[in-house]
Amino acid sequence: MENIQMLIDGQWVGSEQEQWIDVINPASGELITQIVRGNEKHADDAVQAARKALKSKEWKSFKPFERGQFLQETARYIRANAEELAKLESIDIGKPSAQAKGDIEAAARYFEFYAGLADKVFGDSIPIEEDLLNVTVIEPIGVTLHIVPWNYPIQITARSVAAAIATGNVVIVKSSEDTPLTTNFLAKWFHEKLPKGVFQHLTGYGAEIGSALTSHSGVNQITFTGSVPTGIAVMKSAANNVVPVTLELGGKSPNVVFKDADLERAVPVIVNSIVQNAGQTCSAGSRLLVEETIADELLEKLVVKFKTLKVGPPANNADVGPIINEKQYKQILEILGSIEEQAKVLVGGEAVQVEGYENGFYISPTIIEASDHNNSFVQEEIFGPVLSVVRFSDVEEAIELANATEYGLVAGVWSKDIDVAHYVASRIDSGQVFVNSYGAAGGVQMPFGGYKKSGIGREKSHLAVQNYIQIKNIAIQVQL
Ligand code: NDP
Repeated sequence: MENIQMLIDGQWVGSEQEQWIDVINPASGELITQIVRGNEKHADDAVQAARKALKSKEWKSFKPFERGQFLQETARYIRANAEELAKLESIDIGKPSAQAKGDIEAAARYFEFYAGLADKVFGDSIPIEEDLLNVTVIEPIGVTLHIVPWNYPIQITARSVAAAIATGNVVIVKSSEDTPLTTNFLAKWFHEKLPKGVFQHLTGYGAEIGSALTSHSGVNQITFTGSVPTGIAVMKSAANNVVPVTLELGGKSPNVVFKDADLERAVPVIVNSIVQNAGQTCSAGSRLLVEETIADELLEKLVVKFKTLKVGPPANNADVGPIINEKQYKQILEILGSIEEQAKVLVGGEAVQVEGYENGFYISPTIIEASDHNNSFVQEEIFGPVLSVVRFSDVEEAIELANATEYGLVAGVWSKDIDVAHYVASRIDSGQVFVNSYGAAGGVQMPFGGYKKSGIGREKSHLAVQNYIQIKNIAIQVQL
């Protein structure tokens, strides 16, 4: 595949100094392509171009309904190219092709959803006194920066970019160095259809061009998805320029299973919530809290199911793909290697060699039963196919444990008793709670974001447009 160039100010920009970064297929360890190692100068060029585009007549003359039409067109374009996009996403992340196809459809849905909102974001008229016309006017916030991680690149790009364009902003996307392919594909489309500088795509290391962008005074808003430490660094940079951030920083989300739960219904959902994308999902159901009286029965069913899961590359139609890169892979294996004294491994817990893909980064789906909820692997995000289990004895203890991590992104509550289900759902500190289901990451229409260290702000849904607007109050005193 030819090298990927950045899109800056309507130009395709390669590396003048031969500073390229390899992009590796995690399923095979093979080189896919190279990206430009973007630097501070590239970041500055992109921000200057974005500021120019924001003020340009060309972009300002795009009426809200026309922005909506363009976003609809983008959704159609994504669907028309779904097969190719799914292939790219699969190669880049190693995710099974059915999951990659689902991601492409979700991306199309984001463009469609925000297309519908583009001309429906309006202000208020506020009654103050007879001869004072007081109105609020909605304006774009300006230059929006989108730092996208490697686990769901097209979905995460789509969900914030669509909301930002719908509200008239200009956009800079910085891809993760591991996964630039689908954003590059979209960049070609935006390049063809939008005035220059309205959409720009940058690549390189987070610590270099990423940090140059987040600390740039010409950026007006930052949407970041990734780890807590990097989220904190992004927020500190933004604070220096008094710029708002939307942070989505992952979790340690629990499925809480009560004794009256329908286990036949719960088991496949719990399994999928942790093995989807090899557990590399911010909203993965990575903790299982189970009522003592049914714990053995549920764990037995889960172990049986985990043993049937096929680990391997997309080409083998596997259920569980590889870990994204060697660093993450080694980190997960190190955690698994250190848990023996604190817990019982019920299934998995090791690296997997896949014939013909010996350089891929595979880990077997794992269930660990912890002796204590304070164990580090129950508290910390592992970001692999690893489910940590703890038993509880009553409703109050279930709530206490569900809330006993520094995260609060998603939770599942499993019970046939609506009183129990609602009592627990309303007491869990979490941005989303699913009852008798677990929609990893939820739907396009559902507000998504975290309590506690899982983040700040909400993405998805009609609420996300609030991240990308300014509200101006205009008071007109009338006198005849
Ligand atoms: P990071 O948080 O470091 O990276 C996420 C994104 O931020 C990437 O695009 C990265 O670019 C970029 N980035 C990194 N450093 C900076 C910086 N100083 N300024 C601006 N942008 C930056 O996560 P990792 O990829 O290192 O993964 C580590 C852990 O983070 C995972 O194990 C998981 O727990 C969590 N994570 C959570 C995600 C979620 O969906 N909430 C997604 C990904 C990771 P680049 O990749 O080019 O360095």
